[in-house]
Amino acid sequence: MWGLLLALAAFAPAVEVDLGAPSTSVLGLATTKAPVPTPRSSPAQPSAGKEKGTSEQHVRIRVIKKKKIVTKKRKKLTHPRPPVTARPSVTTSPTGTLDLTEKQEPDCPPLGLESLRVSDNQLYASSSQSFGLGPHRGRLNIQSGLEDGDLFDGAWCAEQQDAEPWLQVDAGHLTRFSGIITQGRNSIWRYDWVTSYKVQFSNDSQTWWGSKNRSSGMDAVFPANSDPETPVLNLLPEPQVARFIRLLPQTWLQGGASCLRAEILACPVSDPNGPFPEVPVLGSSDSLDFRHHDYKAMRKLMKQVNEQCPNITRIYSIGRSHQGLKLYVMEMSDQPGEHELGEPEVRYVAGMHGNEALGRELLLLLMQFLCREFLRGDPRVTRLLTETRIHLLPSMNPDGYETAFRRGSELVGWAEGRWNHQGIDLNHNFADLNTPLWEAEDEGLVPDTVPNHHLPLPAYYTLPNATVAPETWAVIKWMQRIPFVLSANLHGGELVVSYPFDMTRTPWAARELTPTPDEAVFRWLSTVYAGTNRAMQDPDRRPCHSHDFSLYGSIINGADWHTVPGSMNDFSYLHTNCFEVTVELSCDKFPHENELPQEWENNKDALLTYLEQVRMGIAGVVRDKDTELGIADAVISVDGINHDVTTAWGGDYWRLLTPGDYMVTASAEGYHTVTRSCRVTFEEGPVPCNFRLTKTPKQRLRELLAAGAKVPPDLRRRLERLRGQKN
Ligand SMILES: [Zn+2]
Repeated sequence: MWGLLLALAAFAPAVEVDLGAPSTSVLGLATTKAPVPTPRSSPAQPSAGKEKGTSEQHVRIRVIKKKKIVTKKRKKLTHPRPPVTARPSVTTSPTGTLDLTEKQEPDCPPLGLESLRVSDNQLYASSSQSFGLGPHRGRLNIQSGLEDGDLFDGAWCAEQQDAEPWLQVDAGHLTRFSGIITQGRNSIWRYDWVTSYKVQFSNDSQTWWGSKNRSSGMDAVFPANSDPETPVLNLLPEPQVARFIRLLPQTWLQGGASCLRAEILACPVSDPNGPFPEVPVLGSSDSLDFRHHDYKAMRKLMKQVNEQCPNITRIYSIGRSHQGLKLYVMEMSDQPGEHELGEPEVRYVAGMHGNEALGRELLLLLMQFLCREFLRGDPRVTRLLTETRIHLLPSMNPDGYETAFRRGSELVGWAEGRWNHQGIDLNHNFADLNTPLWEAEDEGLVPDTVPNHHLPLPAYYTLPNATVAPETWAVIKWMQRIPFVLSANLHGGELVVSYPFDMTRTPWAARELTPTPDEAVFRWLSTVYAGTNRAMQDPDRRPCHSHDFSLYGSIINGADWHTVPGSMNDFSYLHTNCFEVTVELSCDKFPHENELPQEWENNKDALLTYLEQVRMGIAGVVRDKDTELGIADAVISVDGINHDVTTAWGGDYWRLLTPGDYMVTASAEGYHTVTRSCRVTFEEGPVPCNFRLTKTPKQRLRELLAAGAKVPPDLRRRLERLRGQKN
């Protein structure tokens, strides 16, 4: 998803929208300390031994209304924070008879702050600067809105006066905590990050014990961040079994605030007699290969699927990455390797941003699933494979993926691996055909002089020194070779489906609603994916970052979100017949492996249902009336929609349309055009809408002359009369 977003941010004064009350009272226990008499102006010193007995403390609630600061104080009894003593062993469990069968894994998976599996009300903090910097924002890789101080800021930040800040996570059940990953604050306006912290644990959020250095027995102080974005991992000297964990920033960047984003690594522990609810099992009923696959493993897996289902699969490569890795495609159809007349071609493309790894795995899961279900005779899958030719490109940017994969799902951060090896963002690298089209439209040349479809590559784009990535070229050639009708481009980092145009029509506008002439179809396609994706349909879901797309059915016009010139979707629509949308699959760009079964379940139905939408609209064959041969490159125009499609080599075409009555015209060089009406209903289609075209006399003459035949005198006279007339 978004790359240029931040760069495009217009400078605007940061307005503080401080919903002070929710930041403390709604989101947790919020035992804010009394105002500290000596505000810190330099990084706080480690504050050991400041714990006291029961005391009255104040919860400060700051409410800013119309620039007037109101400070309310009310008394609240808080429990003592006990001295940090030697770690009680696991027998601190209230049951006292805990039989722990811990999973002995070297690395525990993330608890789910980034993936949102940990909900907002499991996060607490000593204080927060504002609602937008509340504990619920202390999630690894969370992205701020454009302006600091809004509801969607880029970290949890303690109040400046808070001398002993902490962020607390309630795992909800007993857990073996093994490590912590932190980042600083995501902001284009400020620098804030924590440089060291301590860690404490509790089973009841009252009694806490600290993580100790093995050698000294002292509280361990963990080194943290030195920039805002790079995730820093600290493994605990000894994993701790507890329900609650607290991060206590000790020092932070001078002049900044105690701000962090975190993920907690934690292994589930089995506690059948315990008081805490059992860990919910995230699973899938499909037994598929739920792992992340690097290049070699991906190739191996694809080969396995091919061997398992040789009759419906074919692996081919569309080219190589900059570093020479092949761009493999899995083709799945009843007649792999050939375009069957009347059978539409569909594709999924994943991994154009190498670090957005979920789409790649979903396509690898999809090919396993289609193969297996076909073998089992599942009617839905059989029909899909019989009636469509499916092409799956799991990794458009394998170089970027390898970079991200080596770093690992939790430590790759937000951007590493996004670009190809040359540093090119592939989703900005396609030829901008929007500008020439819109310029021609402004001059009134479309569609009579300049076509409204299949715009040619601009001359500059094909120059030898043009900055076009090999991956981009490979996909362009692929698009030109196969008559694709429908596609989705799988990304990650948000939960929304965005549809073209991706580029704003007003030059330099950062965002602007820019619909295509096929707005209705694109909204339908987007709604189908969003409406069948379980995560997007979850009514309780919170926004990933700074946009709440659920307010709009989890779909958006791409340009209305942020402008992307040179996007694959726009290019696909303007250079080929193919309608393509972008699916942002999950908040977390590179989910941990153990999230994959859940993500598969979230997307399985959507991936199938979306491909089935190729049946929506009209389809048919344009033939020569005399010979019955199909006519290639005939143009299919629909009255009222200023975007035509063309026929494939056999004369077959598909025109995606929403239900309604349409006047459809077929035209081809050398033929008289034919217009007929076609009705698209809500029944499953596509509706047949065939054409038989008659050659023009001029065309007959051309063909006779080309064949070296003598033209009969009467026909010659007729043709001479016609000469000069348009056919
Ligand atoms: Zn992306």
